[in-house]
Amino acid sequence: MSPTFKSGAFAQQCFSSHPLCLNLKKLELPEKVILACTACNMRHRLTVRVFTVRAVALLPPAAEAGVQGGAVDQLAQCAAAHPAALGVRAMDVVNESVGLRCAECRRSYDLEVSVFETHQR
Ligand SMILES: [Zn+2]
Ligand SMILES: [Zn+2]
Repeated sequence: MSPTFKSGAFAQQCFSSHPLCLNLKKLELPEKVILACTACNMRHRLTVRVFTVRAVALLPPAAEAGVQGGAVDQLAQCAAAHPAALGVRAMDVVNESVGLRCAECRRSYDLEVSVFETHQR
């Protein structure tokens, strides 16, 4: 087993130095989100308390009305359909918040994170 660090410091550092290298690796619903950093070969596992979704205003209201389900379902759909489009938009370990963005659907996800863990591969 590779070592696991129960700290958000690594995730914060990755986001500060190379945010574009952070991508969604895997969703383990209902509460785990795994981010992979391609620069450091690290995985950051987030335990999420609350998921929220915001659609960007470019979408016409009709498209918006067609969206079914809550934030978790929408994120699961994005992760299944176009995982490479999901990137990290914000990371604030102190305030336990992480933001994801889907470049494909132009949705923003806000995650309230209770536990940050990092393991090296
Ligand atoms: Zn990194
Ligand atoms: Zn999407």
